[in-house]
Amino acid sequence: MSKQDRPWLQPVLVAASIVVLAIAVVVVFRSTAGNSRSVVGEAVLGCTACDYFYRSDNRRGPLNCPKCDARAAWPAMLCRKCNRVVGIDRMMMRREGISDATCPHCGSTDLRTIRSSESLEGF
Ligand SMILES: [Zn+2]
Ligand SMILES: [Zn+2]
Repeated sequence: MSKQDRPWLQPVLVAASIVVLAIAVVVVFRSTAGNSRSVVGEAVLGCTACDYFYRSDNRRGPLNCPKCDARAAWPAMLCRKCNRVVGIDRMMMRREGISDATCPHCGSTDLRTIRSSESLEGF
């Protein structure tokens, strides 16, 4: 049986390969998106009760502080003024209607987020 006996076969094969290609593109796109999400990696959390800070995969607070066990560990920011890592109590901010995070040590609102690749030594 040669291909000439089934002239409909070729468009079917082309359509099938397009579908396979489309699925492959979707799968690759999804796995890349998933990878980039995990590469963002570890968040820095700071305890608002005892000033302890640490890295965690959980970037949502409040979490139990591994040092003082208070449920007061929040995703942390770095104070540009006094160079300290501070946990930011988002729940309190929302409750009080505060939009800018404030450093509890110097009162500055000049805080920045901490990159996941950043070293925390020296803070
Ligand atoms: Zn603590
Ligand atoms: Zn400060």
